[in-house]
Amino acid sequence: MEIYEGKSVFEGIAIGIISVYKKQEQSVKRVKIEDKAAEIERYSAAREKAIEQLKHLYDKAVKEVGESGAEIFMAHQLMIDDEDYIESVESIIDTESVNAEYAVATTGDNMEKMFLDMEEEYFRGRAADVKDITERIISALAGNDNGGIVSDEPVIVVADDLAPSETVQMDKDKILSFVTVHGSANSHTSILAKTMSIPAIIGCPIPLSDEVNGKMAVVDGFEGKIYVEPDDETMVAKKKLFLEEEEKKSLLKRLKGRENITLDGQKINLYANIGNTKDLGLVLQNDAGGIGLFRSEFIYLGSDDYPTEEEQFAIYKQVAQTMAGKKVIIRTLDIGADKQADYFKLPVEENPAMGLRAIRICLTRPEVFKTQLRAIMRASAFGKISIMFPMIISVDEVRKIKTIVAEVKKELDNDGVDYDKDIELGIMIETPAAVMVADELAEEVDFFSVGTNDLTQYTLAIDRQNQSLDDFYDSHHPAILKMLKMIAEAAHRHGAWAGICGELGADLSLTKEFLAMGYDELSVSPGMILPIRKAVLETNVAEYKKSKN
Ligand code: PEP
Ligand code: MG
Repeated sequence: MEIYEGKSVFEGIAIGIISVYKKQEQSVKRVKIEDKAAEIERYSAAREKAIEQLKHLYDKAVKEVGESGAEIFMAHQLMIDDEDYIESVESIIDTESVNAEYAVATTGDNMEKMFLDMEEEYFRGRAADVKDITERIISALAGNDNGGIVSDEPVIVVADDLAPSETVQMDKDKILSFVTVHGSANSHTSILAKTMSIPAIIGCPIPLSDEVNGKMAVVDGFEGKIYVEPDDETMVAKKKLFLEEEEKKSLLKRLKGRENITLDGQKINLYANIGNTKDLGLVLQNDAGGIGLFRSEFIYLGSDDYPTEEEQFAIYKQVAQTMAGKKVIIRTLDIGADKQADYFKLPVEENPAMGLRAIRICLTRPEVFKTQLRAIMRASAFGKISIMFPMIISVDEVRKIKTIVAEVKKELDNDGVDYDKDIELGIMIETPAAVMVADELAEEVDFFSVGTNDLTQYTLAIDRQNQSLDDFYDSHHPAILKMLKMIAEAAHRHGAWAGICGELGADLSLTKEFLAMGYDELSVSPGMILPIRKAVLETNVAEYKKSKN
């Protein structure tokens, strides 16, 4: 067994035979020509042919991976018609009296270099697109139709790199996985692989030879590894994982795009919890209606110093744009207790879970708080963002927060910065104190989201970090369930909506109960969304309530 490791761009397991794909390099010769006008005409005909091919590819990709995945072929058509590109080719033909193939190859090389020299990774990634269209035009000049890769049986495609046009031309049913030696995570190949939901690994130093060609292999997109000729033990373990994944996929197929509605017509929002932008793929894949908890403190924990407003803004903006108008609830930093960052220089405490944490830090260090609020507000101009504050115990705290929010809004107005003036503000209900004053709190905010992890810890007086207390920890304790009912009712009495973003929200044995309590939203880890959707679709709330009486 040989193991090669790279960077995973899409998770999943693939088991099958490897097919090494090698590009047919098109060698271009410099040939002197007499009739320049005829050569330019030949170039123009090749361009039209290439555009025709791309139109076909676009239609094929729309059917297979949807419009956003197909956009690249629209972009390639525009690139072929790019004035700078055309001018450069025509001028080389004209001034050097050379063949169109050579003029196109030279132009392509120059433009590719120009993109590769750029600082931003996004533009460097575009070099591959230039290469792709250049090869397409050269191929059209040679009279080829650019048929792409065809294979008789499903295979794991191993290649040096794959152009987007090559990936889409492949018959999707015949591809189990992509493994490439090169390629960037931002390349369209990766994006297409993700959209096609095929496990894919890039940057993998695998030999492109008979050493692997035709051999049995397992691609593990979770680990970013390919096992060539796996031993029995590996094969058994990976097959098990594969079957579990297949089960999830079939659930996904049946439930994707369905509304979260009970048999008697009650709707609920199913959102996802995330800790960083890497989770966004999973959020979309699992068809989340939005993000119900973005634990923003992970930005602080992954940093050696306070993250700047610009750094935070870039992250929040990316999340808002990726979610394309779906709600994104950003929780302001919840640092302290089990989540420590040295540069905060927090005092050593006897009882950190009950110490200086979360909103208490924000209210005692308003400059840190304001930096984050500014970044979030600015990002609110790029999508639908709500802000949520953790560890609230009193109305007084919420009023102080609202005063600071108002100050930040005023500063942004003065600076002429765009933001969502009606941005939703909510609080986490995760202390018994907040439950007891829920009516008063609901008057102040747009929504509640219950942090059952902390609410259970503070209600049962059981340290959530202390494993030795597991036998005492009862997540279904009647005190917690009563509180959950009180919280939803208090919110609704005052026109606020209520959700649950703690782990209990994903407890399938309680889905019916949460629906009966009238919760408007459950925010859970992405992988739990579809199983909960299934439970919602199978529930009749009225009947459930009757059965309890
Ligand atoms: C909670 O306490 O339930 C919660 C969602 O927040 P965290 O787990 O991040 O404390
Ligand atoms: Mg909490």
